[in-house]
Parts: sequence; C-alpha cells; structure tokens
Amino acid sequence: MADTLPRIPLSERLGTTAFDSDKTTHLTLSDPALCQRCASRACIPVCPAQVYAWENDRLRVSYENCLETGACRIACQELGNHALVWAFPAGGRGVKYRLG
Ligand code: SF4
Repeated sequence: MADTLPRIPLSERLGTTAFDSDKTTHLTLSDPALCQRCASRACIPVCPAQVYAWENDRLRVSYENCLETGACRIACQELGNHALVWAFPAGGRGVKYRLG
C-alpha cells in the first residue's frame, strides 16, 4: 500500500509545534529531597524537550516546554525515586501539534 502522507522531517514537524502555557506547572515534585537522593535522574536525559536540568543542587522543571510525551513519568517511576507527579496542563492548555 502506497504511503499517501507527505514525508516531512521530524525537525520540521516539531518546528510547527505551538504552546499555550498555563501560568502554573503541571509537572510537580512530591518531595524535592527525593530528587536530591535520586541516583539516576532519568527524567533529564529522557525528555526530548529538555524540560529538566540539574542546577544549584535542585531539579529545574521548565514545564512551559513540555511536549507531553509522558516519558519523564515512566522514567521517574521505573528508574527514579517516584518524585514526579505528572498531569496534563489544565484547561486544554499545553502543546499544540499541528502536523502530528
Ligand atoms: S527521575 Fe524522578 S526522582 Fe529522579 S530527579 Fe527526576 S523527577 Fe526526581
């Protein structure tokens, strides 16, 4: 069966992505001390949007850039200390994919 969808590189598709950020984060930590004791900090490398970074001995969470893949949630549960409380942004806000 022939592929009828146009072939658009991933980088170009992501370039069309828009964000309608909430004023408050949808990615919270149940206890930041769990992140300080976390051996893997798997949320940092797994996120394709670089939402997480370790700065000044704490986890920085740039929720405004979230692509809502849920990868960080799984990484934290499977490899981290279960600190991450993941939810979709409120009120239908967040990422808006235009080309899938
Ligand atoms: S993986 Fe979980 S516990 Fe570890 S640093 Fe990331 S959010 Fe914190």
